[in-house]
Amino acid sequence: MRDDEEGRILALHRLEVLDTPPEAPFENIVELVKKILGVPMAAVSLVDRERQWFKARRGLDVCETARDVSFCTHTIQNSSPLVVGDALHDDRFAGNPLVLGDPRIRAYAGVPLRSADGYNVGSLCAIDTKPRTFPAAEIAVLESFAKLVMDELELRQIASTDHLTGALSRRAWMDRAGAEVERAKRYGRAMSVAMLDIDRFKAVNDTHGHPVGDLVIRSIAGTCRQSTRSSDVLGRLGGEEFAILMPETVARDAFALAERVRGEIAGNAIPIGSGAALSATISIGVSQLGEGQSGLQALLEAADRALYAAKNSGRNRTALAEPAVPEPAVPDAAVRRVV
Ligand code: GH3
Ligand code: MG
Ligand code: MG
Repeated sequence: MRDDEEGRILALHRLEVLDTPPEAPFENIVELVKKILGVPMAAVSLVDRERQWFKARRGLDVCETARDVSFCTHTIQNSSPLVVGDALHDDRFAGNPLVLGDPRIRAYAGVPLRSADGYNVGSLCAIDTKPRTFPAAEIAVLESFAKLVMDELELRQIASTDHLTGALSRRAWMDRAGAEVERAKRYGRAMSVAMLDIDRFKAVNDTHGHPVGDLVIRSIAGTCRQSTRSSDVLGRLGGEEFAILMPETVARDAFALAERVRGEIAGNAIPIGSGAALSATISIGVSQLGEGQSGLQALLEAADRALYAAKNSGRNRTALAEPAVPEPAVPDAAVRRVV
């Protein structure tokens, strides 16, 4: 086990899991821990600099707590599991607010979540409100599930495609876009990107739940793929944010393609089961690679600013970024430059 705190925080952040929504693999694991061990509470807890944040939880009301009161911060200090049979009779925890007040932790078993590079980034834990023992067989169950949690997180990092949508992962898309920028600059070719963000998506989750939210994300990714050319490259840059890389494409054509995608999505309700359907819209920012020194970073920043402008001017629209270097005006009055 490696125990330098800076390396540990880097290992945790590298997993890109903090503050992401609930997801089935982790939900299933805490549910199974709860059932198999017969405990009222279970969690996948990740120990950040100042807090423990729960990727999945059962029986716990809050999604994070301060780090200094967390049991898991003790668990990650060792390679072996931490088992507390009765917190009220343990000097480390007897005065703990999570023991004396809600959620009234009395017994705890946690096994470290160990990253591939050897850091304990968090723990998988089972918690009871009554004193109890945790037999070796139960600890073995926790250890097996802890390994599954880490396998899931590590494999996502290696995978070049996003597990929900099949689009390129952020890392893979960035690599590809970087290579494409180099190529475009070397051969003096055009290249554009579109950044897409689903409008008012929080409301979809809040109204219909995360599984429906996931369905909408998947459907929108599918429409993006169908409405673009095979040379265009779709990436899922974040939760409900996508990017389309368009090699050999000037801003005006990129704008037209983005508008086609936007129109397709706005015009087709997404089936969400039981005969129901849901309308969703997206906002898009488009930018073309500038001449001279401008690279991928500048290209993405320009697209992002345009996306922000599209959101601000009412959503369900496409905005085109100003080119980094002045170029002849686009000979089409319908193409508005807003940024
Ligand atoms: P805006 O029009 O300004 O973009 O509003 P918005 O509600 O979409 O705001 P924002 O982009 O900040 O919110 C994104 C939300 O998407 C928050 C987060 O809970 C949700 N989300 C992110 N990733 C996922 C995911 O993988 N699945 C689901 N279901 N929801 C996700
Ligand atoms: Mg967003
Ligand atoms: Mg959004």
